[in-house]
Amino acid sequence: MPKKARKWEVYPGRSVFYCDGRIIMAKQAGIFYLTCGLIVVTSGLFFGFDCPYLARELSPALPVVAVLQFFFVLATLMRTAFSDPGIIPRPTPDEAAEIEKQIEVPSNANQGVHYRPPPRTKEVVVKGQVVKLKYCFTCKIFRPPRASHCSLCDNCVERFDHHCPWVGNCVGKRNYRYFYLFLLSLSIYCVFVFACVVTHLILRKSSSSSSSPLTILEAIVCFFSIWSIIGLAGFHTYLTATNQTTNEDIKGSFSTKHGQDVYNPFSQGSYMGNCCDVICGPVPPSLLDSRGFVMPEDQLPVQPVAVPNGGGAVTSAPPPRLAAAGQPSPPPSAALSASSSSESNAVKVWHDNYGTTSTTPSHVQPDL
Ligand SMILES: [Zn+2]
Ligand SMILES: [Zn+2]
Repeated sequence: MPKKARKWEVYPGRSVFYCDGRIIMAKQAGIFYLTCGLIVVTSGLFFGFDCPYLARELSPALPVVAVLQFFFVLATLMRTAFSDPGIIPRPTPDEAAEIEKQIEVPSNANQGVHYRPPPRTKEVVVKGQVVKLKYCFTCKIFRPPRASHCSLCDNCVERFDHHCPWVGNCVGKRNYRYFYLFLLSLSIYCVFVFACVVTHLILRKSSSSSSSPLTILEAIVCFFSIWSIIGLAGFHTYLTATNQTTNEDIKGSFSTKHGQDVYNPFSQGSYMGNCCDVICGPVPPSLLDSRGFVMPEDQLPVQPVAVPNGGGAVTSAPPPRLAAAGQPSPPPSAALSASSSSESNAVKVWHDNYGTTSTTPSHVQPDL
């Protein structure tokens, strides 16, 4: 009996899977290994050269506190780097065709007129605020509110914050809290190690014994890292307290536009409520279901096909069906129908998360 394929094996995005789909990362993860190296080497020097002396001279609790912090920092880093950030699976070719049909421009409207393809947008109302949804030409879906397409991973990601090369992954709805905890714990750990190293240097100097050059190197590495890490942790504390993403903050999505105040409809109304929502709210299950099996009746999601001399441009083409030869093909799924039993995860994300929001009729605007 042939081995059943898992969903990660047929997934068309550029993310890379390890351990049979348990770990998902960006393709270029070189800087992630640098992050790990910096943390591990600096900590190794600290545990080897400073901790024994400080434990003897000050308190044996110091190394214990440092070890606990070290493991917490590494755990949050790994969790951020290895988990699905909230990738929205691509629809099947039938569902993509159904969505395309809904937004098609009637051809007789453009007769004799030079016509540029219009931007495809929809509007939904979230807590009284109109939120514009853009169509993703690569993933063939209307992105849910707050989602964005990561060009490096080639996926649309829910509540997309940014792509972080330091953690080798996108930061989105499912791993933002771990990313934030990583920054927070790393800031505290850096300050702790720096304070310990400086104390070590001062104690050595006052007892007229010489310090190791490696201790001085540690102090320099910590000193230069502290500012950027604390600055970043502070920025993300602001984002967490206001329930914004880096993407929204950079675009100014909720700032004053044309004299009109655009409030954040995703805010819980208070700093505390936002922090609880972002850090303690439930982590949604992975829509990607990377370890799930592809069933013979399933269609593969729309696959990118490289254009040979297109300078990296990609187009999409329907992949071959997985249905066994001789078997009748399943009927096209009723895409966008809430009652459809065959709706894909890409469509489910809508019904699960935004099913209660009122939707204005979809419209296609001319490209001005
Ligand atoms: Zn996309
Ligand atoms: Zn990414």
